[in-house]
Amino acid sequence: MTSTDARLHATCPLCGPAPALLWEDAHLRVIRVDNTPFPGYIRVIWRRHVAEMTDLSGVERDHLMQVVYRVETLQRRILQPDKINLASLGNQVPHLHWHLIPRWRADPCFPDAIWAPGRDDPATQSAWQRWAQDLAARLPALYDAIATALQNT
Ligand SMILES: [Zn+2]
Repeated sequence: MTSTDARLHATCPLCGPAPALLWEDAHLRVIRVDNTPFPGYIRVIWRRHVAEMTDLSGVERDHLMQVVYRVETLQRRILQPDKINLASLGNQVPHLHWHLIPRWRADPCFPDAIWAPGRDDPATQSAWQRWAQDLAARLPALYDAIATALQNT
């Protein structure tokens, strides 16, 4: 590890402990994103400190995307969202990771990205909160299914 790598690891929020860890192997970690109003939001983080998909070898890219697709499949099966948003941004943190975000037409930002300003209409927010509570009841099944499925990767 170079001194630049060491500095990045020391300050990068994606390199630190992952209390919401669902599964990991030698190459990547799969974590819940709990501090969000979007139920079932998962992040897949490549362990090595690289910024771009093209920094990975072909075998590494295949492994990363197979994990992303397995998680997406389970999100669709268990949560039945209207859409899955896959995003690899890394603009704020130059550490390769994928966001897997189930979306519903009723969610506060749909059809915009979740990072867009939400609608503040009280009726919309109230309806979404009731729906999100129902979804929250399905999250343990999602998390168990992810851990079980990835053990066989
Ligand atoms: Zn990092």
